[in-house]
Amino acid sequence: MKNLVLFGPPGAGKGTQSDKLKEKYGFVHISTGDLFRYHKEHQTELGKRVKEYIDNGMLVPDQVTIDMLQEEVNKNPEATGFLFDGFPRTVPQAEALDAFMQSLGSAIHHIIALDVTEEEVRTRIEKRRAISQRIDDEAETVNRRINEYYAKTIHVLPYYEAQGRLARVQGIGEVEVIFSALCNILDA
Ligand code: ADP
Repeated sequence: MKNLVLFGPPGAGKGTQSDKLKEKYGFVHISTGDLFRYHKEHQTELGKRVKEYIDNGMLVPDQVTIDMLQEEVNKNPEATGFLFDGFPRTVPQAEALDAFMQSLGSAIHHIIALDVTEEEVRTRIEKRRAISQRIDDEAETVNRRINEYYAKTIHVLPYYEAQGRLARVQGIGEVEVIFSALCNILDA
């Protein structure tokens, strides 16, 4: 089983690349953002608990997020590999993920960051906002999501980097070129 963390700020292209990677490698794709939105829309107990955070562009508390992620992984015992998208977003989440994978007799084999500048992120998100149905895509909320990334999530990079586990891929350019770069890492 090969597991991948795809890392990057909002608008880095994680969703686009995840779809392609899923198709080529058969990963089970776990996007914590998609999962939270599902719970919110279906007004599950979890959805009610996280609604305020999501609608305001704030990170959901770590333990809530970690519990949901573990549950999702446990639902897929047949998986040959997981692609984690939008998780981990904090160092405690990254530590929890390592411990959890280890408890399953597995590991995170690849951590790839899509490198995109903050300026590019803001431009892309502004474009996406124009056509988005997401309630958390209001200008102010999007701003807060980007700020949360640079305040909290970016610290996950040195965590992995210090362990020599981080690969970086240029996230600006043609979708296919970026995809090839990701495949080269996974196939190496
Ligand atoms: P984006 O499009 O900004 O990358 P996502 O769709 O990944 O956002 O996530 C949407 C929202 O879900 C986040 O703003 C946050 O409230 C919540 N969320 C998603 N993943 C996590 C996580 N790993 N930790 C905490 N909150 C999360």
